[in-house]
Amino acid sequence: MSKHDKNALIYLDNNATTELDPLVIEAMLGELRRGPSNPSSQHAAGQQSRRRLDEAMESIAELLGTRVNEPGSSRLVFTSGGTEANNLALRSLRGGTGPLITSLIEHPSVLAVAQSEERRGRPVHYLPVDRDGVVNLERLAECLGEYPTRATVVSIMSANNESGVIQPIERISQMCRSAGVALHIDATQSIAKMPLRLDALAASAITLTPHKFHGPVGVGALWVAAGEELEPQMLGGQQQLGTRPGTEPLPLVVGMAQATRLGIERLTHSAAFMASLRDDFETTLFTQFPELVIHGRSVQRLPNTSYVSFVGANRQSMLMALDLAGIACSSGSACTSGSSPPSHVLRAMGAGAAEVDSAIRFGVSRLTVKEDMARAIEIISRCYKRLRHTRNVEN
Ligand code: PLP
Repeated sequence: MSKHDKNALIYLDNNATTELDPLVIEAMLGELRRGPSNPSSQHAAGQQSRRRLDEAMESIAELLGTRVNEPGSSRLVFTSGGTEANNLALRSLRGGTGPLITSLIEHPSVLAVAQSEERRGRPVHYLPVDRDGVVNLERLAECLGEYPTRATVVSIMSANNESGVIQPIERISQMCRSAGVALHIDATQSIAKMPLRLDALAASAITLTPHKFHGPVGVGALWVAAGEELEPQMLGGQQQLGTRPGTEPLPLVVGMAQATRLGIERLTHSAAFMASLRDDFETTLFTQFPELVIHGRSVQRLPNTSYVSFVGANRQSMLMALDLAGIACSSGSACTSGSSPPSHVLRAMGAGAAEVDSAIRFGVSRLTVKEDMARAIEIISRCYKRLRHTRNVEN
């Protein structure tokens, strides 16, 4: 399928996952073709695998502004992805039993853990956000005042996966440091879309996953600051110092390292490219349909994300019509059954039923073809004109 084929799929769901960069595929194939590889095996092949794993890990660390594999340094714990890294952080940082402070707009892999911890008796606070989707720092200050103990864990995302709104993470980090509590940052959506230096964030743990920036799905990592202990959530072998046992998936880690290299080296250029596609997209649609609501537009957002309420149309009907017309996008919220539940993020932002019911998320990437955007706008306009008076409000 040629990318320039005018009947080809236009993929605008890059916050859900991204296509593999051909150079990532090449790097992974190179590793897969090397034959059996278990970095824990004692034989020469195993030791070579260990070296390649260490090299990939050190390269990821260096690109992201941190250090690993040195005495007393921070470390990267490889996981199966962002979900597992978030679970690990919330359940195991600082003993995993102290108060948990998170926000109403976190990804389900944080919110569902928080709710489960709450059911087990752990105190949990959900910080509200303002109309633009920015976490309320006054409430954070109050919560920190209430629980200024070492066991407290704060978990806030660096940027929201639905709205793309960037959170004041440096300020949050300062506040957590002054209070002496742990900070976990879910940076899943931010890597390779905005500059982030892990050491400079001064957090206790940070979640990463490369399938959001043209790397492989099925791998992720939790960066853990020097001095932070993690209680393993799985038991088994001694891999990764027993914190996350299981044979390390070297081809995936090699793919992650390559994706990180490409994402970081090209960041300045690709952020500008994505922002120009996104801004043109929004401006053209908004000029044509001034009733559209573009969420988070007046605050700092990821350069690739556009979250639009097509007021008057039903999001599910829009999604189906766009899908049939060859555009892949999403309603933003987690979707496993083919349906799309109303967005908890928009609700937290105080959006009314008309906006929640008609919200669609678009995400471009650095591999999006510029020429496709004009066709996408044309198709979206056509679908919206047809569906804008058919809304069926959900509560
Ligand atoms: N956190 C955020 C903000 C996300 O957007 C996602 C994926 O959509 C995740 C965590 C989960 O990541 P993974 O799909 O790698 O488990």
